[in-house]
Amino acid sequence: MTNITLIMGDITEQKVDAIVNAANSSLLGGGGVDGAIHRRGGPEILEECRALRATRYGKGLPAGQAVATTAGRLPARWVIHTAGPVWSAGEDRSDTLASCYREALRVAGELGARTVALPAVSTGVYRWPLADAARIALTAVREAAPKSLAEARFVLFGEEAYGVFEEVFQGLGKGN
Ligand code: ADP
Repeated sequence: MTNITLIMGDITEQKVDAIVNAANSSLLGGGGVDGAIHRRGGPEILEECRALRATRYGKGLPAGQAVATTAGRLPARWVIHTAGPVWSAGEDRSDTLASCYREALRVAGELGARTVALPAVSTGVYRWPLADAARIALTAVREAAPKSLAEARFVLFGEEAYGVFEEVFQGLGKGN
């Protein structure tokens, strides 16, 4: 059974097998957590992302999908890049956001990762309301974590995100 944990912190510092990146479809870097991962992980990550653009993802990584690269100089072994959906008031994109987590965990399982750190995908530049994003994220991870995964660690950047995730987590009930 996978232990779901929540911490407040910086995902680039996590000593886990894989960290998930809230990337964008271009895979070529952005701001927020993506910028931090590339800055601290060094150029090797971007090189692999460029190679993926030149081969499997010529049109970019579709929202809701995930793909792994090296973690470069980060303490993790792999970065699993997923492209979140931009929040929309007019269109329900919840399933695409859930798919980011499902696909990231599927890739983690394929890699044999036992510990994974995850950010709050789409809650920064992509403006997804935190409580709704937390409900989708926690539900998807609870339902989709592969048996081989010992820990899925949400790393929330700041007190507000941490507080909201913690409250939603309590509300969902911690049991599996
Ligand atoms: P998106 O484009 O998917 O919204 P962002 O990177 O803008 O991605 O934001 C996603 C979440 O990641 C936000 O909650 C943001 O506060 C958080 N974040 C930013 N930097 C870090 C970091 N170093 N570690 C963990 N989370 C981070």
